[in-house]
Amino acid sequence: MTTSAIGYSTKHSYSALQQIAFERRALEPRDVQIDILYCGVCHSDVHQCANDWKNTMYPCMPGHEIVGRVAAVGPAVSRLKIGDMVGVGCMVDSCHACAACRDNLEQYCEGPKGFTGTYNGPFKPDGTNTFGGYSNIIVVDERFVLTIPTNLHLPGVAPLLCAGVTTYSPLKHWKVTSGQRVAVVGLGGLGHMGVKLAAAMGASVTVLSTSPDKRDDAMRLGAVEFFDTADHKAMQRLELTFDFMLSTIPDAHDINPYIKLLKRDATLAVVGLLTPFANPTENGQVAFHRRCIAGSLIGGIKETQELLNFCGEHNIISDVEVIDIKDVNDAFKKLQKGQVRYRFVLDIGNTLRPT
Ligand code: NAP
Ligand code: ZN
Ligand code: ZN
Repeated sequence: MTTSAIGYSTKHSYSALQQIAFERRALEPRDVQIDILYCGVCHSDVHQCANDWKNTMYPCMPGHEIVGRVAAVGPAVSRLKIGDMVGVGCMVDSCHACAACRDNLEQYCEGPKGFTGTYNGPFKPDGTNTFGGYSNIIVVDERFVLTIPTNLHLPGVAPLLCAGVTTYSPLKHWKVTSGQRVAVVGLGGLGHMGVKLAAAMGASVTVLSTSPDKRDDAMRLGAVEFFDTADHKAMQRLELTFDFMLSTIPDAHDINPYIKLLKRDATLAVVGLLTPFANPTENGQVAFHRRCIAGSLIGGIKETQELLNFCGEHNIISDVEVIDIKDVNDAFKKLQKGQVRYRFVLDIGNTLRPT
């Protein structure tokens, strides 16, 4: 039997999020039904609703930073039981057979449809779109459900499921270690997690920001230096200094001023932008010091659990502003204006009621 649910979705790229009623699928043997308590508001939710990536299926119900309580389990569920506090991130399925899936890198699934996003699918085999965490209930294959360390404050855990793992994964992949100089570009949802995680890994973190008023926050979050990217003299002084850089800028921009800041053989991983840069890349800058420009997408399920455990051990959560789901459209506008410190989290459990 399907389960009646409610959630907030957009009908078009230009419409506001509004409450709709819909059905969650009947539990399959490996499925877990979750009562959602909190869901983070990622800048990707804004991009997806606005059809910035030209692949949005409407209605679009975002939300891929989900924390909730297990309400029911299918007969083949082995790891989880009713009452467990769990998380769901950006993926709810993948092909399970390709080389990437076999390597626990489901985010790079090479199956015919790639991974199935927690929202915006792609279409499931039954032809329906997936709906995310701006809703009261979700049904997910247990293989895509994460367990949450018991010592962490739940609203601050939600953003770990995307912002956390999206920054953790490249820091690990490019082997950031103690004593290295790491720059985080853009201090927003992803950026502030990048600072906390890189600092916890022992790196010496510099924040490069367009918002001088974030300086004190950057230091509190674990950075040792902060520079306004409009300060050209400071940017010049920083040339050839970083062992690794992580860019979280969400909009088209010129990447070239950042490339120069890399040491020889160092990597700039761009996680913020999934569309072209505003200017062509100056490959001379890349070639002369054998620098590397890279991208990275979220993290696999195994790595997401590793990140959650790391955060449990280091007592790391996201800095959040917990809001009523009725204010989600306002939150989208604020996110576009950079007015969030540092992640909005929807208080679904206490504020999502049928209208
Ligand atoms: P966010 O909270 O809005 O933070 C982005 C930060 O970038 C802002 O706080 C701002 O920091 C800086 N910024 C914004 N516009 C800028 C501009 N035009 N030029 C320079 N800096 C600018 O967004 P988020 O949730 O962290 O997401 C960031 C991006 O990552 C989004 O595009 C999202 O879609 C993408 N994303 C990618 C992945 C992945 O797997 N690769 C996963 C999740 C999200 P300052 O004020 O410090 O300058
Ligand atoms: Zn996200
Ligand atoms: Zn696969």
